[in-house]
Amino acid sequence: MNWFRRPKYTTLTPLSQKREKLPQGGIWIKCEECNELIYKKEWLKLLKVCPKCGFHFQISPEERIKIIFDKGSWKESFSEIKPVDSLGFKDIKGYRERLTEYQKKVGSLDAITCGKGKIRGITVASCLLDFSFMGGSMGSVMGEKIALTAEMAQAERIPLLIFSASGGARMQEGIVSLLQMAKTVSAINLLKKEGGFYLSVLCNPTTGGVAASFAFLGDIVIAEPKALIGFAGPRVIEQTIKEKLPPGFQRAEFLSEHGMVDMVVKRKELKEKIFYLVRFFTVSQ
Ligand SMILES: [Zn+2]
Repeated sequence: MNWFRRPKYTTLTPLSQKREKLPQGGIWIKCEECNELIYKKEWLKLLKVCPKCGFHFQISPEERIKIIFDKGSWKESFSEIKPVDSLGFKDIKGYRERLTEYQKKVGSLDAITCGKGKIRGITVASCLLDFSFMGGSMGSVMGEKIALTAEMAQAERIPLLIFSASGGARMQEGIVSLLQMAKTVSAINLLKKEGGFYLSVLCNPTTGGVAASFAFLGDIVIAEPKALIGFAGPRVIEQTIKEKLPPGFQRAEFLSEHGMVDMVVKRKELKEKIFYLVRFFTVSQ
């Protein structure tokens, strides 16, 4: 005898279906933050920033390179490094299968692009995380490429600039992904010991193992407006400490007010600010 019967249908709609998303190919975009409709052309002109609430949408490494580096100056490095499924990990899908899917969809081997470029004539080594590739998660490839870029910056005595956007460590690589936290921190510390300058830019979102390792180690830490930055999510913290969190908790502005980041800079002012900081801390010395 069944005590509880599963209803044939449910009246609850999954959250993912409730959030109507407008097709990105149309002429209107819906803001993820304030739900306003934005004219796509205007949104693109504003570097994918909402004109109503100032929310900064995620952008790809290629788009960011165009915004930050001098035209034609970017040279990619370590592009041949690709992830392997050393654990034979499988959840709903196999890790190998998942990687192939993302590689086809995003058009890169992993969630990071590294290289060198010029910012108003100053050469800078840089890493750019890509949230659209498995949530920008950090596995062995990201750890290796960040360490190699930090070593390149150290050897060539140029500043290191990292743009973070990540959900944290890549669970499909198990303990190997957590090891990358120690690896990236060591590489950054070696660079700093030699007097190198590291500038970290936290984009939406920067969380988990990335926030807890190299992202917060910048000599200067910049955040994009309204970016979600933290280790665990607010719901997990509320459930753990059994307290309601203050409004705006884990947002860039809140962190800036509480001394966790040095400044919040709008995307359209970012190149100018980075140039000023890099020139002040490296060229003038
Ligand atoms: Zn908005």
